Amino acid sequence: MGNTGPAELLAIWEAGLAHHGPGRALLLHRAARPESAADELLSLPVGEREADLYALRRALFGERMQIRAECGACGEAMEFDLDARDLGVRPRKRDGPLRVAEGEWTVEFRLPTVADLEAAAHAVAGAGGRAVAGAGAHAASGAGGAGDGLLGEDVGVGGSVAADGDEAAEAFMAAEGGDAVASTAAARARRALLARCLVSVHRAGQPVPADRLPVAELPEPVQRKLAEAAERADPAADVTLNVACPACGEATRAELDIASYLWAELDHWARDLLLDVHLLATAYGWSEPQILALSPLRRRYYLELCADG
Ligand SMILES: [Zn+2]
Repeated sequence: MGNTGPAELLAIWEAGLAHHGPGRALLLHRAARPESAADELLSLPVGEREADLYALRRALFGERMQIRAECGACGEAMEFDLDARDLGVRPRKRDGPLRVAEGEWTVEFRLPTVADLEAAAHAVAGAGGRAVAGAGAHAASGAGGAGDGLLGEDVGVGGSVAADGDEAAEAFMAAEGGDAVASTAAARARRALLARCLVSVHRAGQPVPADRLPVAELPEPVQRKLAEAAERADPAADVTLNVACPACGEATRAELDIASYLWAELDHWARDLLLDVHLLATAYGWSEPQILALSPLRRRYYLELCADG
């Protein structure tokens, strides 16, 4: 976690405003791993990036993540807390490809990387549907003010996420329950992703050129086993929550996309901070660097004095 002081984070936020999902995820990932080049970041398994982003999230905003979701069945708003320490499990290092055998099929594949994920999402989006996590989102993001992160108690957000149409507030969860469109898109994206990662395919002992075999033509049980093996090997790549609705009892499945979640938090934090800068600059005539150099506690203290005055 190299340069993650307020000025650096504001710069990351400002750069991210010009981007969408993947560009923002890359900016956040660079903040989490400043020593790595962009190529290196893109070639990591997806779960490795997610683990880095969970670590960054803990460092900045603390461990407790407040999640808001909407019941897929009755629409009830649900709120609950997650511990970020439980979510960023890194994939185990492995030398060779993973292998799945089902019936007469034997398939070898490698773990999808960040670059694969983006290319697959792009391909599916080009085919008429957005299938990155967050598509068809029902959920708004919550931002906690746990106060145990680097940014300390300056993170007094926790309110609702920004207004509709604000790209910065693109919701980070895709609820699948009761939403056929979202789950079809998610399934398409998963297939597109696995298609990029096939290493070899054998049917009844005979090699089938993997590059000429669409994953969609593999029998359903083989596809399912592939997805399960990928999930076991890299669990953090695809964090899916199963939430029981307190109102109707139905379970809603929702994907948690840490990059979008963290971006929404950073966006709140940055806008709040700029407002603080504005208020303090107006009241005291201090410059932006001077105000950013104050600890969150002192900044808060002076703001309270301004409000009292
Ligand atoms: Zn419900």
